[in-house]
Amino acid sequence: MNDSLNTSDVSKLSVKELQQELLDAKQEIENLKNTSDNYKSLKRNIYSEFEEDIHIYKEMFYTSPILKAVLIGPNFIVKSANPAILQFLGKDEGLIGKPYLKEVPELEEQGLGNLLREVYKTGIPYSAIEMPVYLNINNQLVLSYYDFVYQAHRNIDGDICGVVIMVTDVSSRVKLNEELKISNHRFQELIFSSPGLIAVLTGKDFIIEIANDAIIDIWGKGPDVIGKPIFKVLPEILEQGMDKKFEEVFNSGKPLVAQEFPIMHERDGKLVEGYFDFIYQPQKDINGKIIGVAVIANEVSKTAKLNQKIRESELKFRQLANLIPDKISNADENLNTFYYNQSWLDYSGLTLDYLLENGWTELVHPDDVETITRIAEDALRTKSDVEMELRFKDKNGDYKWHLSRATAVRDENGDFQSWVSATTQIHKIKEEEKRKEEFLKMVSHELKTPVTSIRGYTQLLLSMIKENEAIKSSNIPLESSLRRIDNQINRLIRLISEMLDLSRIEDNQLVLQKSKFNINDLVEHTVQDIKISNPNSDVKIEHKFKTSIFADKERIEQVLVNFITNAIKYSPNSKNIDIKIFQEVEGKVSVSIRDFGIGITKAHIKKIFTRFYRVDGKNEETYSGFGIGLFLVNEIIERHEGTIKVNSKKGNGSEFIFTLNTI
Ligand code: ADP
Repeated sequence: MNDSLNTSDVSKLSVKELQQELLDAKQEIENLKNTSDNYKSLKRNIYSEFEEDIHIYKEMFYTSPILKAVLIGPNFIVKSANPAILQFLGKDEGLIGKPYLKEVPELEEQGLGNLLREVYKTGIPYSAIEMPVYLNINNQLVLSYYDFVYQAHRNIDGDICGVVIMVTDVSSRVKLNEELKISNHRFQELIFSSPGLIAVLTGKDFIIEIANDAIIDIWGKGPDVIGKPIFKVLPEILEQGMDKKFEEVFNSGKPLVAQEFPIMHERDGKLVEGYFDFIYQPQKDINGKIIGVAVIANEVSKTAKLNQKIRESELKFRQLANLIPDKISNADENLNTFYYNQSWLDYSGLTLDYLLENGWTELVHPDDVETITRIAEDALRTKSDVEMELRFKDKNGDYKWHLSRATAVRDENGDFQSWVSATTQIHKIKEEEKRKEEFLKMVSHELKTPVTSIRGYTQLLLSMIKENEAIKSSNIPLESSLRRIDNQINRLIRLISEMLDLSRIEDNQLVLQKSKFNINDLVEHTVQDIKISNPNSDVKIEHKFKTSIFADKERIEQVLVNFITNAIKYSPNSKNIDIKIFQEVEGKVSVSIRDFGIGITKAHIKKIFTRFYRVDGKNEETYSGFGIGLFLVNEIIERHEGTIKVNSKKGNGSEFIFTLNTI
């Protein structure tokens, strides 16, 4: 078909041809129209695809958790920055259009500006992993770690026009890695620097996966053992049946603990025995499946050998203790007895189990229980040695006297360990003592009457001499002899009364006859009486306090006589005695008797109030006496609910102070 038709051509054409031409032209127009429509739709399609892409890229850019920004030009003007980076920098949209490095100056200070410039200049991307960067957040430099990429940004002509930055904050990962490293290091340290023996064996062949230096040293096969099966490395322990123990732990999943377990290790071709405390611990994977066994052990050969010796020596001690006729027992700090020797069982007829469970208290005579309880309470409190006499029931139900000594055993630091008690039967001695006491009582009684009558006659003779001038003027020393007899008889009478008092105390028959009297007057009278028979003594009385008391006058006089005559007796080189009556505490009166004689050592002070106790010394014979006086004094003052205090030093004299209640 022709491209165009003019009028001369039209005249030449037939109608048919014209019609055809017209149809063709119509078709062409239609085609053109279609082409234009296609083009339009194509354009529309292309445009919408383009829009879609931009949208996707925008979405990716703005919603990405990765911190992104596009910086343009040599001054790195922020062209776009996603919300993530804005939030992270603590900025808002206002950052857009501003120079990045001026807005975040701390980056320039840390050399990141130079990196940006380098990328901008060379086009070579820069990437960093876990780089520490300080950012100024609320005026404080905060350290974080980042993975980041600086990438050159090019225009459509391919020329560099800026830098794209993409940053990921990996601080938590870095921290986690750091912690992992530390914990790994600690784990390594723990295992490898531990003096304890540690190994981890894996699989059914117990391959040595980990073995610290300490265990490698004990094995004695050198360091090249990792990766080898344990029983190939240490065939000697296989022979000792240790494989059974590992297998038991591996199969049961239960740990195995042993103490002072003997194991032989081969060293220089010889088997050497060592003792070990160990635990074999099953090792599980994260699914709980048993994959091996960990060995944690300690060599305790020295302690084990020592314990062995202790056990042997303990056995010997027990055998020895069983041979002793004395009753030996051992108790803890609460007086719970955990050991009785054979003598206890033989005497009581009870079994060891029974005694261990019920103790020995039920064997004690009911009358002794109170004293024992008091002594036991004291011992528990003071943890000092105790001695007591008490009666224990034997297997026939008879009570026998015993002397029981409990010693507080201490270790080398002086810390209390246990009570060791030795109990000896003293029944016969006690009976003997009783007989002697009975005899003394009887003798004292029998002596009292004749001695009193001798004293009566002596005093009668003395008074007769006084009135008889002939005897007086003669040279016969009748009066002085009679005075001496009177003195000696007085001493004898005092001794007899003390003996009788002793029996009264034994029989619990010392009864007080209380009345009201003035203590100052009593002291004065007593001193006057004593002065008659001790004219050389210089006794001074100081009444700092005057009062009456309600007490047994005769007994208190006896106390005074005892203290004062002792003060005279034990002061051979000094005649001065100072007596003072004073008040220290409201409602009480104290009397002090002070001498300047031989004094008493501290150790003896505690004991002088016990019956028949006399201080031993080279001058012992010089001072006559029986050691009864202070015992009686103590009994009397105790029965008056009073107290006695002694201040004394060897060679420096003594002061005895007794205190009683006033009315
Ligand atoms: P004795 O009959 O032996 O004097 P006591 O019971 O009165 O008995 O005294 C007991 C012991 O206390 C005496 O043997 C003596 O060693 C000591 N004693 C008592 N009073 C004094 C004192 N004033 N100075 C030194 N030692 C004293």
